[in-house]
Amino acid sequence: MSNEKIYTIRITEAMNQKCGCPLCTVEDKLEADELERILGAAMMEPDVRVKTNEQGFCEKHLDRLLGMSNKLSYALMLQTHLAEFTKKLYRDSIPLLKNTPDPKKQLAVLEKKRKSCYVCARKREFMSATYSAFAYMYRTDAEFDGRMREQPYFCLRHMHCLLEAAGRELSKEAYRGFCRTLNDINGAYSQELLGDLDWFCKKFDYRYKDEDWKNSKDSVERAVKFLK
Ligand SMILES: [Zn+2]
Ligand SMILES: [Zn+2]
Repeated sequence: MSNEKIYTIRITEAMNQKCGCPLCTVEDKLEADELERILGAAMMEPDVRVKTNEQGFCEKHLDRLLGMSNKLSYALMLQTHLAEFTKKLYRDSIPLLKNTPDPKKQLAVLEKKRKSCYVCARKREFMSATYSAFAYMYRTDAEFDGRMREQPYFCLRHMHCLLEAAGRELSKEAYRGFCRTLNDINGAYSQELLGDLDWFCKKFDYRYKDEDWKNSKDSVERAVKFLK
């Protein structure tokens, strides 16, 4: 299956679900698949191991991997990563305490490590191709605009990514249409969310305490999802 097809299928599947931001759905599934793959088949692939040894994982993904069941795979992977990282951090000071490492060099190594994660890098690469595929689908599929309009909303982070990709990939006229659709959806959703949040806050006022919650009970959670 070509790569383009994979992106198109994942977008279509997420849009069929019509729950929350479809790009968040694509991203969550990708992340889960990627974590599964790392501790499964990919663990023994030399080119993947070279990368995980070098890049390591961010705090969030270290924790996610820790929560998974394949602990031997994880131990083997951490062992080679830690060995490589220790060499970078201590360089010629190994064995330890032979001489004190240069703190400036250590700071640079530690700084680089904090920004580096194999899963995040894979995610960035895949998602960037997904945004382009999204714009491509808008350009080539006459029904895509209608399917976009069936989505509840696009979270603000993904709205940003989609606007950027569409600006690159679409003609001026198509881009205008794309922006209109995205703004229609998110404008309406923002209004709805504001109304729900307003009602949620009012419900803490004794004058409204006997009134129905309407659609406001989960409005704080929904606002966080939208803003995140
Ligand atoms: Zn999203
Ligand atoms: Zn990460």
